[in-house]
Amino acid sequence: MSSRRRRAARPTPAVFVDRDGTLNHERHYLRRVADLRLIAGTAGAVRRLDAAGFAVIVVTNQSGVARGLLSIRVLARIHDAIVRRLGRAGARLTAIYVCPHHPTAGTPPFRRPCRCRKPRPGLVERAAREFGLDLARSYCVGDGAVDLGLAAATGTRGVLVRTGHGRATEARPPDAPIAHVAANFRAAAEWIIEDARRAPPWRGRARGRRRRASAAEMRTSGEGRRRPRR
Ligand SMILES: [Mg+2]
Ligand SMILES: [Zn+2]
Repeated sequence: MSSRRRRAARPTPAVFVDRDGTLNHERHYLRRVADLRLIAGTAGAVRRLDAAGFAVIVVTNQSGVARGLLSIRVLARIHDAIVRRLGRAGARLTAIYVCPHHPTAGTPPFRRPCRCRKPRPGLVERAAREFGLDLARSYCVGDGAVDLGLAAATGTRGVLVRTGHGRATEARPPDAPIAHVAANFRAAAEWIIEDARRAPPWRGRARGRRRRASAAEMRTSGEGRRRPRR
């Protein structure tokens, strides 16, 4: 694929966004492209964040794979469909990172304790390494307690959305800071852009580089499935 590499003067801030209940309408273990429905405003949110200089990275627990409910292949097809639909609306995701594991359910190799299942920080840490991200200026958006836990575990700001299970999460908030509660991802994006403007100036010194993964790369970006390096 094209090598869209851009050197950035400083590491890029990111918005790590949950998938089910945040980007797309919640289904109990979404396992068919036919059941995929993006939440209204999702493409606009991705476009706005991208234009504001954020990497937009999907971080999702998909224990349905460990449970044998869907294969990695079908999961990749669903993610290709998300990328395609957003792309048609002019919205480009930077990458999609998946935890296909579950510590106790299903069968090996996906039944295992891992460091990538949210709220654990593995996927965010890996994305930060691979894309040169500045976590101190980054955000996690989602409808679940695990998304707020992820924010706490990675030193990012947690934004709860009221779509998906968000209202239930709001009613029984987890023991993790919530920087903001938004009606949906679109509203969360607007708040994030404003919050980033208010935030204190850049603190770090390290140089980073920003690039985008191709859809083909995204397909294989689950932990344990190394993606090819160019
Ligand atoms: Mg969710
Ligand atoms: Zn995992």
